[in-house]
Amino acid sequence: MIYNKIRRKTREINVGGVKIGGESKIAIQSMTNTDTKDADATLEQIKRLSSAGCDIVRITVPDEEAAETVRMIKESGVRTPIVADIHFDYRAALKSAEYGVDKIRINPGNIGDESRVKAVVDACKAKNIPIRIGVNSGSVEKHILAKYGSPTPEALCESALYHAAILEKYNFYDTAISIKSSDVSTMIAANRLVAERCDYPIHIGVTEAGDERRGSIKSAIGIGSLLCDGIGDTLRVSLTADPVNEVRAAKDLLNALNVEGQCGMNIVSCPTCGRTKIDLISLSGRFEEAIVAEGLEDLPITVALMGCIVNGPGEAHEADIGIAGGKGEALLFAHGETIGKVAENEIIPTLIKNIKKIKEEKFI
Ligand code: SF4
Repeated sequence: MIYNKIRRKTREINVGGVKIGGESKIAIQSMTNTDTKDADATLEQIKRLSSAGCDIVRITVPDEEAAETVRMIKESGVRTPIVADIHFDYRAALKSAEYGVDKIRINPGNIGDESRVKAVVDACKAKNIPIRIGVNSGSVEKHILAKYGSPTPEALCESALYHAAILEKYNFYDTAISIKSSDVSTMIAANRLVAERCDYPIHIGVTEAGDERRGSIKSAIGIGSLLCDGIGDTLRVSLTADPVNEVRAAKDLLNALNVEGQCGMNIVSCPTCGRTKIDLISLSGRFEEAIVAEGLEDLPITVALMGCIVNGPGEAHEADIGIAGGKGEALLFAHGETIGKVAENEIIPTLIKNIKKIKEEKFI
C-alpha cells in the first residue's frame, strides 16, 4: 500500500510497550465511556476493547479521585497501555503518572500557569511517560484566534506547535500531537500542515464524527486521506456508539487501505444486480455473523461473495476462497479457479470449513 512507501519520518515514542511513530505499525486507539470512578466498569470495558484489537485505551481522569482507577487498572495486570485524558486539573496528571499510567494527554493551555505544566513534564520525564498534546477547534488560544480570526487549519497547527514548544522549553520531546476537528477538511488540512512542520508522531481522527454510519464515513475520508499522504501514526475512529465498534471501524479502515498488510478478513462482495441468482444480501449478513462466531474475522485472507457466475469468479480472482451464485446452488472458487459446487443452504458451512482449512495450512 502507498502508506508504507511514503510514510512520513517521525520520532518514535513508547506508550507502555506499544511504539508509536518511526516504523511501528499504526496503533488503534479508543476511549472508555464509563464513569472512570467506577473502576470495575472501566476495567471491564478496557478488557472488551483490548479483545476487539484496541492497542491503546484512553480514559478520562477529571480529578485525583478518578486517578485512583488508574492505580487499580495498573494493579489488575491488564497489559493494554492506558492514556490518562487530563483537562484543567494538573494534580490528576501527577497522580496518574505516580500510578504508572502509560501516556498523558493534555492541552497545556488549560491546566493553568506554566509551573503546573512544568510539574507534569517533570513527573512524565521521571517515569518516561510520553505526553500527547491534544488540540481541537474549541481549544485554540485567544492570541492565535486573534491572528487567524477562527480555528482555521493554520490556527490549529500553530496552537499544536505552540504547545509542543512549551514542552520543548523544559527539554521534553517525548511528544505526540493530535489536531482534531469535526470538520473533515479542516482536520485534513491542519494535519498536513503540522506534518510538514515537525517530526513528532501524529494521532489522527475526526472528532465528534457522529453515529456509526456518518462517523465511519467521515473518519474514512479524514483518516484515509491522511494515511494516503503517509501521515498518521496512531488513530481513533470516534463514533457515538459502543467504543468496541470504534475499534472494528478502525480495523476495517486500515484493512481497506491495506496498511501494514491486512489486519483482518477482507470480504469482497458484489452490489447485486439483475443477474443475481441467490439472496446475496442475506447471505453476506449471515456470513459476517458466522465468521465472528467462529473467531475467524481477524484471519488475513480475502473471501468473495458474488451474485452470479458470469462475472463472479473472474472479478474476484484474487480471493483465497469465494462463491458465485447459481440457481439454488453456488460455484466454489479459489484464486479464480472453480473447485466445486455447493447447494445454497450449504454455502456458509462450506465456506467456514474451507476458511478453517486455509487457516491450518497457512497460519498455524
Ligand atoms: Fe451482478 Fe454478477 Fe456483478 Fe454481482 S457479480 S453485480 S450478480 S454481474
